[in-house]
Amino acid sequence: MKRDVGRTTRDLRRHNRTSVLTRLYLHGPASRFDLMRATGLSSATVSNVVTDLVADGLVAEAGLLDSDGGRPRTLLEVRPGYAQVAGVDIGETHVQVGLFDWTLDTLATATYPMDTGRPDPGVLAGLVTTGIEEVTAKAGADPAALLGVGVGVPGAVRPDGAVHAPTLGWSGVPFDALLRPHIAAPLHLDNCARTLGQAEMWRGAGRGADRAIVALLAVGVGAAVATGTPGGVASTTSEWGHTVVEAGGAPCRCGSRGCLEAYVGAEAILDHYGSLPGAPELRGGGTEAKVAALVADAARPGAAADTVRWTAEYLGIGIANLINLLSPDRVVLSGWVSGAMGPAMLPAVRDAVRRHALDYLAAGTVLELGRLGPDAVALGAATLPVHGLLAAGERTG
Ligand SMILES: [Zn+2]
Repeated sequence: MKRDVGRTTRDLRRHNRTSVLTRLYLHGPASRFDLMRATGLSSATVSNVVTDLVADGLVAEAGLLDSDGGRPRTLLEVRPGYAQVAGVDIGETHVQVGLFDWTLDTLATATYPMDTGRPDPGVLAGLVTTGIEEVTAKAGADPAALLGVGVGVPGAVRPDGAVHAPTLGWSGVPFDALLRPHIAAPLHLDNCARTLGQAEMWRGAGRGADRAIVALLAVGVGAAVATGTPGGVASTTSEWGHTVVEAGGAPCRCGSRGCLEAYVGAEAILDHYGSLPGAPELRGGGTEAKVAALVADAARPGAAADTVRWTAEYLGIGIANLINLLSPDRVVLSGWVSGAMGPAMLPAVRDAVRRHALDYLAAGTVLELGRLGPDAVALGAATLPVHGLLAAGERTG
């Protein structure tokens, strides 16, 4: 009986800390009165929780807010210096490691380009540990003191940490077991589209949306369906890139034909450009440099501009299918291909969506570009340890 009471008290304490901390983390500075209204907790409880969070260094006072007639209210905010997190983007063209404070401001990054489409898991694990050493050294941080290391992989992560990632040629690779001996901080692995979706909902173009779809456009194409919830953000991924947009169409890496990824994935875009008669060779050595060169050339009429329009049409069809299926209030285009091509192709994508989605559903959907910049996927991975902290209301592990 006594133990049950103890557990209930602990659960209640965790719930209260999580409520207050999550409100401050996701929505910014607030007074004790704002927190009371937002969480439904009593004035005394909010006061106690805030006192604890300040004592633990998670929260600090952030000045005074004038209130009508009454005495000014003290604003509270989360303290960025409380902890640092590392986020790792295992992409198909590079490995990027970012060091962030726990409010996800970038402190240092390191990027390692990859030439091979079938990277060896052991070599990649080595790049991850090198990257963590590099970014912590740059920022003068202690790798063992990190809140955690989040790793985003372009595939599915099983509960035992094994990764299935067809785009890397991985089937059941024990990536978690390869990394764990070399990483002193708590390690978290998840699908990169899901973590990117979480980051866009917390910090980017998904903020304030009830039901957003965050599309990850890279060599591979995926999407996360994110729902704004009071306790943070829950999201699931979909294999959107392998939904068919053309019967008997272009061959896809998955073995099928006519998949969306076979039209709007980075390599598919470059293949299409190369197939156009008289298309000049693109400058740059790697996939990312070539896509950047294509976008620069698309400013004037020619094969590059035609390729941007062609990509926008298929992307618009893919997005219209998502809208017709799920009626989101927002669709966010993220990932490095969106960063490179998004500004040039957004009007044509919107036009294609208007033509292919049902009017009454499309009217309720805003389509925009992600706002997280080139570190978006690494930043997404860094949300994993932060989510753990918010859910527990304190540091664990
Ligand atoms: Zn496919």
